[in-house]
Amino acid sequence: MRFEGVHHVTCITGDAPGNVTFYTGVMGLRLVKKTINQDDPTVYHLFYADEHGSPGADITFFEYPGASSGRAGDGMVHTITFRVGSEEALDFWESRLATHGVTTSRRDGTLRFDDPERLGLELAVSATGDAPLVARHPDIPSELALQGFDGVRAYASDPERSRALLEQVLGFSPRGADAWGVRGADRGGSYAYDAPPADLGVPGAGTVHHVAWASTMEDHAAWQRRVTEAGMRATPAIDRFWFRSVYFREPSGVLFELATLGPGFAVDEELEHLGETLVLPPTFEHRRTEVEKILTPLPDPRAGWAG
Ligand code: ZN
Repeated sequence: MRFEGVHHVTCITGDAPGNVTFYTGVMGLRLVKKTINQDDPTVYHLFYADEHGSPGADITFFEYPGASSGRAGDGMVHTITFRVGSEEALDFWESRLATHGVTTSRRDGTLRFDDPERLGLELAVSATGDAPLVARHPDIPSELALQGFDGVRAYASDPERSRALLEQVLGFSPRGADAWGVRGADRGGSYAYDAPPADLGVPGAGTVHHVAWASTMEDHAAWQRRVTEAGMRATPAIDRFWFRSVYFREPSGVLFELATLGPGFAVDEELEHLGETLVLPPTFEHRRTEVEKILTPLPDPRAGWAG
């Protein structure tokens, strides 16, 4: 059993409208699902991805309106890395982000910057042959667009605490000091630790809530058993409607999810109309009127697009 790289990364925003504007308008991702946090149906859960809403390209945000800003610390993911196709793509993004007032720093095939809530993002020239997972945007040529995740970097004061779990239980392969790769039949991803800052982490806007690794449908139950047998306090498989999920905190403190590749976002919306309306899982549909009254109205990211 091997994970097909990163499935999704879930973060926290205090400003859903600003979040939509940045991730669709600036970064060029597609809003593929506008729904609610299934553990707190009074707030949004927004999913941005490639044109098809593919696992591997899916950055998601829980909205807590007006949440104070957080800060990554020990046991938290601090940087999310997306792939791009070339150094020319980094040139493009360096210039595009500057135009949008985003300060970047470029080094060794990567471009590092923060989103408007100071979430750490990085673009890296892809060193894999994995299929590019690309969204359409009128101002971003597809060969320069984001191509899905490479991986995440977290802070850990003692990465050795996680090594046995990562390598012997989860099938991650060492790739240099405190860094690992994980590769399935179609896609791969990366995971790495850096020494934490002195200040403690604070969950809040602009921080990562969890990272999900992609499991095939067939392997999912076996992964749940395997991590439980390894001593992790894993949840049972939870039906998230678009995928199934198991959660546990790995020994360094990062919340991991194991999520299935299917059935996917097109089970309840046509591909052409993903993300356009508020979608509620069937078990929440009876609360639609109540929920719609509470949620902050959001712009349609593709309003005014020709074609
Ligand atoms: Zn998740």
